[in-house]
Amino acid sequence: MNTSSHISLGTFADVIENRATSATLQAVRTHVATCSACGETLQRLERLIMMMRSDAAADAPRDLLMSAIKLFPPGAPRPLRRIVATLIFDSRKAMPVFGMRSVRSSSRQLLYSAQQTDLDLRITIQNDECIVAGQVIREGYVGGLVEISGPTGSAEASLNELCEFTLPALPTGNYSLKVRMSDVEIEIPELELKD
Ligand SMILES: [Zn+2]
Repeated sequence: MNTSSHISLGTFADVIENRATSATLQAVRTHVATCSACGETLQRLERLIMMMRSDAAADAPRDLLMSAIKLFPPGAPRPLRRIVATLIFDSRKAMPVFGMRSVRSSSRQLLYSAQQTDLDLRITIQNDECIVAGQVIREGYVGGLVEISGPTGSAEASLNELCEFTLPALPTGNYSLKVRMSDVEIEIPELELKD
């Protein structure tokens, strides 16, 4: 079993945005089948995507769902104080893959990953106001604070016992978002909140 080169983030970005060649798709499938590290990551992400999809109106064929998953590089966690989260799922980009191009929704779902922590964001825009809600998904997690700020406003919210949060309504605009926890701060430097 050769695990010397795990599937790269760029490769999975190509997969999720439907740019990957069939050869790349085959290579990804082959690797995940024989690499336990990537396989475990895949299972975790699959559960997350399924959870997100359970809120959506339409069913997605399972094959397409699987190909819409982007893995992040597996490996041992490193103690970092500040981690910039990587976008791994965007419902706006995924919709055409699911054949739902005609569906118009003001609700957007984003899934970010930052090493051992995942961040599920749900953005609802109504009357030029945005409501950002979501959930921090992390094993053994014990609480924290979500902060959002930008030229047009700022807000914060604590995580509840399920690590969920809902930020107060904000004007549309460009923001950055941070999740502060006891040992780490996860940052999304650019979060565009608009229709
Ligand atoms: Zn691997």
